[in-house]
Amino acid sequence: EGGGDMAASAAGDAEDLCSPEVGELALLGLAPSAPSCPHGPALLFVKTSQGKKEGRRFYACSACRDRKDCNFFQWEDEKVSETRLAAREEYNRNHQPSFTHRQNVERYKNFLLLPLSKRRFCQECQQLLLPAEWEKHVDHQSLCGISTAQLQSPSQLLYPLENKKTNAQYLFADRSCQFLLDLIINLGFRRVLSVGTPRLHEMIQSKASQEDSRVRSLLLDIDFRYSQFYTEDEFCHYNMFNHHFFGGEVARETCRTFLYQDNGERVIMVTDPPFGGLVGALASSFKKLMSMWKEAEKGHSNQEMPVFWIFPYFFESRILDFFPSFSMMDYQVDYENHALYKHGKTGRRQSPVRIFTNLTPSMIVLPVEEGYRFCSICQRYVSSGNQHCEICNSCTSKDGRRWKHCVLCKKCVKPSWFHCNICNCCALQNHTCETIATGCFVCGKAGHKRSNCPSLSHT
Ligand code: SAH
Ligand code: ZN
Ligand code: ZN
Ligand code: ZN
Ligand code: ZN
Repeated sequence: EGGGDMAASAAGDAEDLCSPEVGELALLGLAPSAPSCPHGPALLFVKTSQGKKEGRRFYACSACRDRKDCNFFQWEDEKVSETRLAAREEYNRNHQPSFTHRQNVERYKNFLLLPLSKRRFCQECQQLLLPAEWEKHVDHQSLCGISTAQLQSPSQLLYPLENKKTNAQYLFADRSCQFLLDLIINLGFRRVLSVGTPRLHEMIQSKASQEDSRVRSLLLDIDFRYSQFYTEDEFCHYNMFNHHFFGGEVARETCRTFLYQDNGERVIMVTDPPFGGLVGALASSFKKLMSMWKEAEKGHSNQEMPVFWIFPYFFESRILDFFPSFSMMDYQVDYENHALYKHGKTGRRQSPVRIFTNLTPSMIVLPVEEGYRFCSICQRYVSSGNQHCEICNSCTSKDGRRWKHCVLCKKCVKPSWFHCNICNCCALQNHTCETIATGCFVCGKAGHKRSNCPSLSHT
């Protein structure tokens, strides 16, 4: 359970605990000749030491922040022998899933033909079992009598991956998922590119099978377990940190075709990436998906694919660095497997997760029954505690609490902050002035923390 550190990060200065870059590493990005690990092309990083950026460069796995999950490492200037290259290729092949997506689709068809009494799911292997395989799993815990409803909600059947660094899965609370889908439909979208949003995908799929809803979804996710439940037109095994389609050109084409909007069916991309960081890597993948849309849709040369990027509010400046056309909505996205991220009433914690979008803010109608109201000056919906500041001329709260204006800082700050004359800015009452005075971890300059380091903004 990651509740503990999540509790810590939602409290007070979450940005310190959820710093976008690992330690003193800076992301340089995806190099054209990058070597590959089982998760596709590795990313290029540089180790920086205080004050200078020209450390030694190296490649590491794009998807796994924890060395225990993927220990791929190579110095950029390292000579790799033929034998090691061959061994690496072999290793990458052996670390692919045991069934292909095609095989999983076949298995699913056979599974559906089974009577309820013979439908088993192995909880240990996280796999639907066909009767011939039961024997191999006798010692494993399994669920029996898997219903069609269960098959339509794989995110409930599969356990959420919990690895905090690599792939923690935080599933939307029903209320938030329903809100997102209603919003998407009301905005007139008929297709959703679901990038790392299996629960939204599943809500759309089951809606489509019940009603004559015309909304369709394509799920892109690194969690291959989902290939057991969806066809190749519904799911692509995808890594959003390096824009890698594990299914190669065929899968890429599936995505391209999906983005091609015929009969005026408008497309929106919705993504809810792991919060661990690497905003730069995510942004570069999303730009590639956006340009896929643009190529498919030659007519709209000066438009952007509509996007909802769901992410904590303290990444706002990082996201806007990469996507100046985006703005942050006040809506608090809630999660089911996070006590903390559940909807905050008085005394309860509020979710720090927001929607960033390139759609016109006034079009994003937030539920009045949950306290959101329309600010006619800002032309957007804001949370109930978010007061319009006359001096800033904007509704300035980021976290839903009422913020206060500091005349010395010339901006609104958190209610718990006070102006510190040593630091020359507002901070928590009990902060240590040195942290800022000694300077940023990455560039060594004073006046900002590593999470706001300007030298990292445009890598
Ligand atoms: N709130 C969403 C789930 C978000 S959790 C929902 O309820 O639908 C983050 C999701 O991103 C998970 O589904 C996880 O499998 C996926 N993910 C994590 N790392 C990824 C990567 N490198 N590439 C693609 N998807 C990834
Ligand atoms: Zn306002
Ligand atoms: Zn103000
Ligand atoms: Zn101040
Ligand atoms: Zn810095």
